[in-house]
Amino acid sequence: MHSDPNRRRFLKNAAYAGGGVLLGAAGFNQVSPWVWREGVAFEPNHSFWARSQAPRNPPLAGDLQVDVAVLGGGFTGLSAAYFIRSVSPQKSVAVLEAQGCGSGASGRNGAMLLTMTADRYMNFSSAPAMDKQIYDLTVENIRWLSSLSAATSIDCELETHGALQVLENAAQVKEAKEYVRQARALGMPVEFWDQPRIIETIGTQAYQGGFFDPHGGQIHPMKLVQVFKTAAERAGARIYENTMVESVEEGREHVLRTGDGHTIKAKSLVLASNAFSSRLGFFRNSILPVREYVAVTRPLSEQELIEIGWRRRVPFNDDRTEVFYLGLTQDRRIHIGGGTPMYSFNNATPGAGAASVHVSQLQHELARIYPRLAGMDFETSWDGVVDWSLDESPSVGSTGRHRNIFYGLGYSGHGVNLTSVFGRIIADLEAGCEAAWNRYPFVNARLDYVPNEPFRWLAAQSAVAWYQLTDSRG
Ligand SMILES: Cc1cc2nc3c(=O)[nH]c(=O)nc-3n(C[C@H](O)[C@H](O)[C@H](O)COP(=O)(O)OP(=O)(O)OC[C@H]3O[C@@H](n4cnc5c(N)ncnc54)[C@H](O)[C@@H]3O)c2cc1C
Repeated sequence: MHSDPNRRRFLKNAAYAGGGVLLGAAGFNQVSPWVWREGVAFEPNHSFWARSQAPRNPPLAGDLQVDVAVLGGGFTGLSAAYFIRSVSPQKSVAVLEAQGCGSGASGRNGAMLLTMTADRYMNFSSAPAMDKQIYDLTVENIRWLSSLSAATSIDCELETHGALQVLENAAQVKEAKEYVRQARALGMPVEFWDQPRIIETIGTQAYQGGFFDPHGGQIHPMKLVQVFKTAAERAGARIYENTMVESVEEGREHVLRTGDGHTIKAKSLVLASNAFSSRLGFFRNSILPVREYVAVTRPLSEQELIEIGWRRRVPFNDDRTEVFYLGLTQDRRIHIGGGTPMYSFNNATPGAGAASVHVSQLQHELARIYPRLAGMDFETSWDGVVDWSLDESPSVGSTGRHRNIFYGLGYSGHGVNLTSVFGRIIADLEAGCEAAWNRYPFVNARLDYVPNEPFRWLAAQSAVAWYQLTDSRG
């Protein structure tokens, strides 16, 4: 199905804009990573979710030799470690995390638990039968997350009351109706909701309709990190936190060096460093690391929720290019994220002023959706870096001269569920069992080219300008 001018097209246009400039400057594009080196630095996670971060494990205190080194302790890395130990119990697995597990996107996100991949969400590809298979795969994974949570006895507040994508205008309503018609014909139980149903469910009159997926839901992201950390350790993986990898020397046996001067030798490397991968020189030309902001209110009383009309605990996101997403915590706080995405030159940390602009945008949007909440301050806010691929398609596979680097990335803001599907695939690929997965389009998918600086920065800026233009035109 063809969708409105949206984020997907926006990012493509940005790439083309950057690419146009690039043609005249191809040589400079090649050398620029050596001119502007990205720093390997990490910002502490001050999110609301981080209040539930488990105590950190001690850092690596000496050199190490393992079968598999997993670089990154987010959903991808922890689930891959769990699955590798389950598939290949004879292999030693060590997870190396720069800060605490969940310090990256996994502990900072918008908590929406979604089916599908970002590029196929409410959007048929040219292979609808495959879209259905991916839908089933991701629905099944949500069930599995629930059983893993039960097995670890950690309540990650997983709720599957469905997820809603709200629609702003008549064109989106028309497309959603057509998508739902085709999807239901394929056996996907998604629904189109008209405006009265939206008002009855989430209270707001800001939207004209919605696309409802009964298999979606929401989760407490950091508690899900705890589930994976516990499961991986119980399966026999060792997890080292406050252990930053500063360099990777690729080979039949990789050599990783930490900031503390320790060396890890490993036959396989799982690169689960997501939007931070380019800092180690990986996937620089596949991923645009974009920053998004999230904020949370104080707990609302039951009466306040009744007054705004959010009657069912269904999280929702809109379908604009500058997408916003909202959900409810278990103690009835509203969290809202999204708005204008931000990219700082050379993937650097933005200055302090950036946050206030983005947080007031979130405040303004919350008041637009729920006018009764106008003027309500946020209790806290934070940012996180999203690993955008230019067409929002993810990729999981193996790379490197010896095909012994395994990775999953390009989730494009749609990774809470998909990351552990990819963790499972990584374990099978690492064990040499590719057959079950090769038919999926995301396995070893080549991601569109992202230029180096300064073209990357130019592309990102032109993309943001284009977002704002298309949204203002409705
Ligand atoms: C603001 C925001 C909102 C989002 N909202 C949603 C949503 O509502 N629903 C949804 O489905 N998805 C959402 N996402 C996307 C989702 O959170 C991610 O796709 C997912 O968490 C990616 O997990 P990961 O493990 O691959 O990466 P990460 O969680 O980023 O983990 C990477 C880890 O690697 C570590 N690391 C990196 N480099 C090194 C190094 N050199 N040495 C050691 N450790 C290193 C980092 O510290 C980090 O912990 C959102 C993302 C963001 C940022």
